[in-house]
Amino acid sequence: MVCWNSLKVVELVEGDPIKNVLYVDLTRRRYWIEERNDLFQKYIGGSGVAIKLLLEECRRGVDPLSPENPIVFAVGPLNCVFPMASKTVAMFKSPLTGNLGESHAGGRSGIALRSAGLGALVIRGASDTPIYLSIYDGKASFRDARVLWGMRSSYTVGRVIREREPKAGLRTIMRIGRAGERMVRYACVITETYRHFGRLGLGAVFGSKKLKALAIAGTNNIKVKDIKAYKELYQEIFKSEITAPALKKYHDIGTPMNVMPLNKLQALPAYNLKSASLDGAEQISGENLARNYLGRRVACGHCPVSCIHLAALREPYEKEPYFYKTTMISYDYEPIYALGSMLGITSPEGLLKLIDEVEVAGLDAMSCGVALAWATEAVEKSVVSSGPDGTIVNLRWGDYNAYIKAVEYIVEQPNEFYKALAHGVEYAATKYGGLEYALTFGGNEMPGYHTGPAAHIGYLTGARHSHLDSAGYSLDQKILASKGEPTPTSVANTLFEEEAWRQILSSLVVCFFAREIYKPEVVQKALKVVGWDLSLEDMKKIGYEILALKHEFKRREGFKADALRIPKRILETPTPFGRLDEAFIRDAVKEYFARLPRSTNQP
Ligand code: SF4
Repeated sequence: MVCWNSLKVVELVEGDPIKNVLYVDLTRRRYWIEERNDLFQKYIGGSGVAIKLLLEECRRGVDPLSPENPIVFAVGPLNCVFPMASKTVAMFKSPLTGNLGESHAGGRSGIALRSAGLGALVIRGASDTPIYLSIYDGKASFRDARVLWGMRSSYTVGRVIREREPKAGLRTIMRIGRAGERMVRYACVITETYRHFGRLGLGAVFGSKKLKALAIAGTNNIKVKDIKAYKELYQEIFKSEITAPALKKYHDIGTPMNVMPLNKLQALPAYNLKSASLDGAEQISGENLARNYLGRRVACGHCPVSCIHLAALREPYEKEPYFYKTTMISYDYEPIYALGSMLGITSPEGLLKLIDEVEVAGLDAMSCGVALAWATEAVEKSVVSSGPDGTIVNLRWGDYNAYIKAVEYIVEQPNEFYKALAHGVEYAATKYGGLEYALTFGGNEMPGYHTGPAAHIGYLTGARHSHLDSAGYSLDQKILASKGEPTPTSVANTLFEEEAWRQILSSLVVCFFAREIYKPEVVQKALKVVGWDLSLEDMKKIGYEILALKHEFKRREGFKADALRIPKRILETPTPFGRLDEAFIRDAVKEYFARLPRSTNQP
């Protein structure tokens, strides 16, 4: 049981601006900075500070697309200081699930916020007309964005702002596409072109505020407490990062290295999870994409791994066969799963074109792919009909041109069906039928792992209903490798501990790919050299408390653990463990929620 009042209060390093929270009121076009030592001293930064600010700023029951829904961004004490502490946490009330909205992204966002002399940013209210915010060294300017609103491509928006704002190379430029403007519930926020605050609809919240973009930069330096120890530890961490075999794979092939092993394991969701493997998967594998399409790799700020893979797609102009248009398209495992295997697409070029269309529009690739997969099955089962008037695109597995058209319709919402689909799969399936094959967990569309019980229990219990909450997919694979016999209790406990520890990583804010390097002892040392003295026990308590606070927010906004729907489809399609047992999953979910503190564990 977490003791709510026993968290250690750390002393912040003199002069460290991390305590500064910039409040921006879009309605009144005002901004001010408050020193919130109280938050950073107890909750570190990132997720910990963001959830406290969300609980303060977001009144119970507000409409997520109203001006009253705040947006919080927060960074932590290791951002700008240690390699791979490259991320920023965003929190808001999710328009997709109606409760906790949390999304993490890298790019230069973490470094830019820290360099701007900020630990967090809170955006309140809404503008009457489209604007973008430019924040430089803690000062905010409200810039007219009417000319950017409605632009077809999110790339162009970034390019225009790059020309107008200072500090190239150190700044972050976050922006939405048309999907955000039109408040598709799973619209994302794109940062530095190839990174995203992808999940749970931050882009729609931006759109509801008429906030097209944020540009942030600054000149602030970060002081550490012990410079000698800092240099030594920096070298140690850096060396681990460039020599770790797992990170080398992320560099070489990127996250798509998962495609073939998962396919072989029969754990790669395909055709809306009617199958757990895909004939022709090697065509869209990381190896094939790297061999035939990889144009270059890029990295988030302050990361030596460089896992971001960009395909160079060459297409000849129609009337000029020897002239090519080359488009750089970022690909990861998750878009390959959601927009590839889930839709039965094995053409690499078709897949890349679809990924690009989703990026141009500014949609979360995972939710969008799962929505298209559900819609395809709904058409197949005649739950909805494509109709002679073409109002619903005739979706067929593998037909990427039809999917590209459907993405346009999700954004434009020309009829009731696409309006519903723009609300997410749960909403559309509730309205039209087909819930049994609607792959959502707590309202969020499924990530790309059908590895076994732990993955699905993790999606159900995780505060964000994301595979990154507690990495159940990884636990499944460990159990398989060790030929272990999981029980509901053992799975629930392992997921709970993992999720609690991840609250520390996401408060620092460290990329989860570096989790094998930032072990508790290393985190403790890293915090010490920047002046934060926390024992392993202190960190454990903070992790538990942050997790409990997230569930407090969820519960306050109507989330009920005992009402969680288990999609029937996950029980029908065998996993590497065989068919999943519903009772096992329900028991584990119950055990997981029983571990949360009493105050947040009410039905
Ligand atoms: S490993 Fe990839 S996602 Fe993580 S910080 Fe580096 S480039 Fe960014």
